[in-house]
Amino acid sequence: MSAPLATPATTLPGQHVRIAVNKHTEPFWQAAQQRRLVAPRCTDCGTFRLPPTPFCPACQSTAVTWVQLSGQATVYSFAVVHGIPGLPDLTLVPAVVDLPDAPGARLVSNIVGIAPSDVTIGMTVRVDFSPITDGWMLPVFRPRTPHESEVP
Ligand SMILES: [Zn+2]
Repeated sequence: MSAPLATPATTLPGQHVRIAVNKHTEPFWQAAQQRRLVAPRCTDCGTFRLPPTPFCPACQSTAVTWVQLSGQATVYSFAVVHGIPGLPDLTLVPAVVDLPDAPGARLVSNIVGIAPSDVTIGMTVRVDFSPITDGWMLPVFRPRTPHESEVP
């Protein structure tokens, strides 16, 4: 018997992840391909619209400005998944993260590179990018290293 809680969380193998891109989400995925995390902000009222929406929920504007983010995030909520059909050894930590430089925006992603038992609500994580199908990159989040946490 292995000890699943000690197994670092990973992502689904990239070939199992296929995204649907439309005109409202394409800038997000194109930026991710360049290892940049961006969020759509309403040009008229400044409300962040992540996940991307055709209309601003606050003012109905369709005008969007894509803002580059630092890639820092904090864990808002998470789950731990041990094994999926066909991939019993996989450990996944699907999570919702808050983006401090895009107030109100939340991203559904995965926490990787850490034992699930060490993931805590509110912990600081940093974006990384994981290759998926069709040449796209999936934003994932991993813990900041001790070296990074020395830098403000
Ligand atoms: Zn607006």
